[in-house]
Amino acid sequence: MRPLTPLAYDDLTAVDDVCLKRPSWVVHQGVWSNALDVYRASGGDPWKVKPVPLPDDVREAMRELYGSRRKGGHIKRIRNYPFAGSCPVCGSHSTGSVDHYLPKDEYPEFSIYSLNLVPACAHCNSDEKGTVFVGPLAPARFIHPYFDSISAKPILSVEITSPYDAARIRAVPASGLSGNELEIVRFHVGTLLGGAFEKFVGNLWVRLPAALAAQSKGMAAAGQIDVLGLIKGNLAYAEGTTGLNSWTTGFYRGVLADAGAVAYLAAKTAEAGK
Ligand SMILES: [Zn+2]
Repeated sequence: MRPLTPLAYDDLTAVDDVCLKRPSWVVHQGVWSNALDVYRASGGDPWKVKPVPLPDDVREAMRELYGSRRKGGHIKRIRNYPFAGSCPVCGSHSTGSVDHYLPKDEYPEFSIYSLNLVPACAHCNSDEKGTVFVGPLAPARFIHPYFDSISAKPILSVEITSPYDAARIRAVPASGLSGNELEIVRFHVGTLLGGAFEKFVGNLWVRLPAALAAQSKGMAAAGQIDVLGLIKGNLAYAEGTTGLNSWTTGFYRGVLADAGAVAYLAAKTAEAGK
C-alpha cells in the first residue's frame, strides 16, 4: 500500500481512436469521455461513480478491449511501473500485475482507462476479494493508489490473538486513524488481506524468536537481549526497504504495539539463544 503518481497517458484521445474505428460507437463517444471526466473528478470513488448505461453488446466489446490490449501499450507500462519493495495496493512483497480499481465487469467503460489500472500483484488478482469492489456502507471502499494519499502514513498493523504459542494474526488498521480514513482502511485491509497475509505473517511470527536470537548474537547474554530494540530496528529496516505499509512492516508494527507479545518474544528469544 502506497500512493503512486499515474503514468502520463492521453485517455481521451484513446477513446476518440477507438470510436473512429467503430462507426457505430460514435453515438457513445460523448458519454464515454464524460465518464472518464467523472472518474477523474471523483477519484474513482465507487460511491460516486455509477456505471454508464450502455447497450450490452457495447459493454461486452469494451471489456474485450482490455484483453486485446493488455500485453502492450500503456497497460504494459503500468504493469512494469518502476517502484520498489511492495505492492502499492495490498502491500505484499511481489509486483508485476495490473488490477482494475473498478472492475471491468461492472464498469467496462474503464477497462482500459489508465487511471483505473493500477500496478498490483498476483495476490490482488486472486480470489481473495472476489467480485467485491465497494464496502457495505459508505465510505467503505478500497484505497486508490493514484487518488488517496492515506497510505503515505502508517496504516497497516496486525492483531495477535493469544495464546502466543498458537497465535492467530490478522490485519487491522494502524492506530491513529479516525473517521472516514479509519472506515476505508478497515475495509481495505479486512477485505484484501486474507489467508495469504495471515500465512505470511504467521511464518514470520513462528520464526521470529530464532531470528532475534541470531540478530543479538554477541551483543548480550541470552537473558539480557534488548528484544524491544531489535524489533524496533526490524520495523525501521522493513519501512526503509519495503515501504511504510508492506506486509512485513505491518507485522512488526503490530508486534511492537502488543506488550504481551513482546514479553513472550523476549522469553522465547532468550530460550532460543541458549
Ligand atoms: Zn497486491
